[in-house]
Amino acid sequence: MERLKNKVALISGGARGQGAAEARLFASEGAKVAIGDVRDELTKQTAEAINAMLGANTVLAVHLDVTRAADWHGAVETCVREFGGLDILVNNAGIANRKGLEQTSEEEWDAIVNVNQKGVWLGMKTAVPAMRQRGGGSIINISSIFGLIGSAGSTAYHGTKGAVRLLTKAAAVQYAPEKIRVNSIHPGLIYTPMVEEGRDQQELQPVIDLTPMKRGAKPEEVAWCVLFLASDEASYVTGAELAVDGGYSAA
Ligand code: NAD
Repeated sequence: MERLKNKVALISGGARGQGAAEARLFASEGAKVAIGDVRDELTKQTAEAINAMLGANTVLAVHLDVTRAADWHGAVETCVREFGGLDILVNNAGIANRKGLEQTSEEEWDAIVNVNQKGVWLGMKTAVPAMRQRGGGSIINISSIFGLIGSAGSTAYHGTKGAVRLLTKAAAVQYAPEKIRVNSIHPGLIYTPMVEEGRDQQELQPVIDLTPMKRGAKPEEVAWCVLFLASDEASYVTGAELAVDGGYSAA
């Protein structure tokens, strides 16, 4: 249970859903973890719940709006000050928009690009100098199956998640000589507030029907894959894309 012993991780969007599952798993594998989110109260509650299980000061809650460079600097500085450095960044924060191309307003386009695309770039840009100080690191960018293949609707979401896939590969090539690995994860249907809020099972059924495994997944099933990429077990893995989708993108 010590796959991340002596590692420090920063997880964006860690208040709930997949980010919270990753924080729980990382902490249980020996990491010190900072979770950053715009939902300050929920972020604190999530950190407190993990600390109650695993010990005080295992997880820290920080305010982080991924669209703001100043927030990223604050989050990375907190990791360095409180935990001694930064080894792992999970760019997990994201927002959805299910509208089609003509139905998407310019404001909606800019908002999703800011969070899902610019946020990932800003996170990497801010984390790399701290990782360099440690002699290496691991960055995991959470894209989507919608960053691998198209569908009718969710146009802006597709654009941002496709961008994350190639941002990841470009960063992987640039930072390989500095032992900073960068990989992307492409989840399929994962039962989190993002997909469950305001939708019932009936609306999700078409996605399940298109999934060879005929089911959605728990956030923990993504977290185990993020853990592998974060750990030294993935020491020769960089620039890779891992679909965690029950076979959706293979069909
Ligand atoms: P979620 O909505 O439960 O969690 C996302 C978190 O990101 C929330 O806590 C939210 O407050 C936070 N967030 C939103 N905007 C932010 C900002 N500007 N700054 C900081 N935090 C912000 O959703 P989730 O399913 O856990 O999503 C995690 C990631 O997985 C996202 O990038 C999402 O696009 C991706 N994803 C999800 C699914 C799925 O089926 N759930 C599928 C593919 C990809």
